[in-house]
Amino acid sequence: MTSSPQDLFLLRHLISFDTINPPGNEEECASFIGEILVDHGYEVKSLEFAPKRTSLVAISKARESGKSAICFCGHMDTVPLGNAPWQHGPFSGEIVGDKIYGRGASDMKSGLVAMIITAVRLAEMGLNERVLMLFTAGEETFCQGARYVAERHQLLGHIGGLIVCEPTSNRPVIGHKGAIHYKITFRGKTAHASMPHMGINAIYKASDAIQKLRNLDLGVSGHPLLGPPTINVGTMSGGQNINSVPDLATIGVDIRTLPDQTEEKIRTALQDLLGTDVDIELLGQARGIFTEPGDPWVKEVFRAVEDVTGARPEPSTVPYFTDASMLSPALGSPPTVILGPGEPELAHKTDEYCYIHKIEEAAQIYLRILESWCLK
Ligand SMILES: [Zn+2]
Repeated sequence: MTSSPQDLFLLRHLISFDTINPPGNEEECASFIGEILVDHGYEVKSLEFAPKRTSLVAISKARESGKSAICFCGHMDTVPLGNAPWQHGPFSGEIVGDKIYGRGASDMKSGLVAMIITAVRLAEMGLNERVLMLFTAGEETFCQGARYVAERHQLLGHIGGLIVCEPTSNRPVIGHKGAIHYKITFRGKTAHASMPHMGINAIYKASDAIQKLRNLDLGVSGHPLLGPPTINVGTMSGGQNINSVPDLATIGVDIRTLPDQTEEKIRTALQDLLGTDVDIELLGQARGIFTEPGDPWVKEVFRAVEDVTGARPEPSTVPYFTDASMLSPALGSPPTVILGPGEPELAHKTDEYCYIHKIEEAAQIYLRILESWCLK
């Protein structure tokens, strides 16, 4: 499959916008995308969850109310560059053979390009009345933009299916775990380090808690495709000086959840385990997502992928969460597939790239999905 000059122009342009989050600053990238879609007959709404943190919703002017649409979703922000030097400029969009380099090439500006190309072609074919394109800000920080859009979901109308164009190398993915982040604080009593029995050591309390958390059983058997929920203590800090008994320690805990696990249940399990004299603060959460492989629309998506790529996809899931965590519950849990042209293993890496031919492949898959949806 060959790429068009338009794919390359768009992707190089999107990579040139520094949308590293924080601070994100997606506004300029959003207005570039918005102008293209307005030129092709879409009504574009900007939704800012904070200054310069713009998400875009593009809806065809021909959208028929009452008919459900397919919503495509992608995020404009990227993660930081990391400490290692890049061989290819992270905002250059340098092309080497079938690869295009840059921060966000795979995660997920190539997905945005496939969305834009699909929107433009549908408009040219007069087939765009049942599609909605959503470009979000702030995904990498617990889906802030998608959450803001989800709170205003009436704008989107009825959605019959959701495609999140995150990097899957054009393999359809039907679910992912959710995530919950907690900061847990332990308090003690300070004393001189030469008389530790006079104090209460908050670091020891944290240490005991970490060992318990390590073996925490959340009482859920594993999901056949998603596996079991997991827990990781990712940060710890405590104490101000070495010659004092510390009276404060904190840890950061990341729990990866299955779709039916609620934050309330998990918090209760933690509180039962650690007792009531610890403070458990919720820092962020994203729901897990899963659509049954037997869902009729999921089957259509699989068929479209097979028609274009020639490979029959197997139902699978990914470990990372997506904007679907916020959007899917707000939209009434439509069938949801994660499907995009980037390479999942290159996301967040130094010298990130994507394969150019996969952008066109993704656009063709999206078009097929929409053609069969519009024929209903
Ligand atoms: Zn992403």
